[in-house]
Amino acid sequence: MIRIIECCVCKRMTRANLLLRDTNICLECEQKIMKLDSSHEDYFELKEGIKRMLRYNQLVSRP
Ligand SMILES: [Zn+2]
Repeated sequence: MIRIIECCVCKRMTRANLLLRDTNICLECEQKIMKLDSSHEDYFELKEGIKRMLRYNQLVSRP
């Protein structure tokens, strides 16, 4: 079964790709992140998205 879940970076509903608990990074964003250097115009946005995701996962994994 294919799960459709919101990408935490671009906020689109997308096929589950890189899942951390209940957050997802879509394939497109994942590839962007891999290729990105810090001078890229999307870098800041992507970095913030990942930070949000990590923060969220820390919150939910707390006992
Ligand atoms: Zn995305």
